[in-house]
Amino acid sequence: MQIHPVAAFEDNYLWVIEDGRNAAVVDPGDAAPVQAFLESRGLALTAILATHHHGDHVGGLAALAARWKCEVFGPAGERIAGLTTTLAEGDRLTVPGLGLELAVLDVPGHTAGHIAYVGEGFVFCGDTLFACGCGRLFEGTPAQMLASLAKLAALPPDTRVYCAHEYTLSNIRFAQAVEPGNAMLAERKARDAASRAAGRPTVPSTIAVELDTNPFLRSASPEIAAAASRHAGRRLATPVEVFTAVRQWKNDFR
Ligand code: ZN
Ligand code: FE
Repeated sequence: MQIHPVAAFEDNYLWVIEDGRNAAVVDPGDAAPVQAFLESRGLALTAILATHHHGDHVGGLAALAARWKCEVFGPAGERIAGLTTTLAEGDRLTVPGLGLELAVLDVPGHTAGHIAYVGEGFVFCGDTLFACGCGRLFEGTPAQMLASLAKLAALPPDTRVYCAHEYTLSNIRFAQAVEPGNAMLAERKARDAASRAAGRPTVPSTIAVELDTNPFLRSASPEIAAAASRHAGRRLATPVEVFTAVRQWKNDFR
């Protein structure tokens, strides 16, 4: 079984999982590049998995479902046209055609019903956890997003993180403003900049790398708390306060 990025729009990755014959796609914001990928490899689409309702994640869902008559999985907590099975935390599914077992986590924050799909050694987390960043809080509270990120952070350290956007280098630029002394961040920047220069995705990363370098997974660390407090001009005491301040800092960061 292999996982491939299909690039779409400015910076989206539509992830295709395939076994040489059948394929599933995660967050098909656009049908055309997915269809082209399937045709170029002679694959049949047997499942669609959606993490949340935003157009850049579900825009191609109807066309692909009509073409392939496949099952369409998505969050129980969001209104997405065309789902055949709705899922929430604690649910497990076997991806049709691939026999791949996935577990579902509720990860609200970016949107209210956002879910993540966890497999053996990997997670598809949509717009919740990004490489060195996290999604904007469109529908959730900072406390919800922090709890969602904590669930992802608790996955085994070698879990590969398949997020839905290539935002890594700009996220690292912000992370370095928060934590200029983090040597692992500097190493990550060199590595990921080299990947981009060679035309390669920086995704997937791993939970271990995110724990070392992602400021949004480090709200409990003294370094992040000190930087956020300095930036906010007052002492931030709790991880939620720290996370809230860092998320706001990132929103305003140019
Ligand atoms: Zn989104
Ligand atoms: Fe998105």
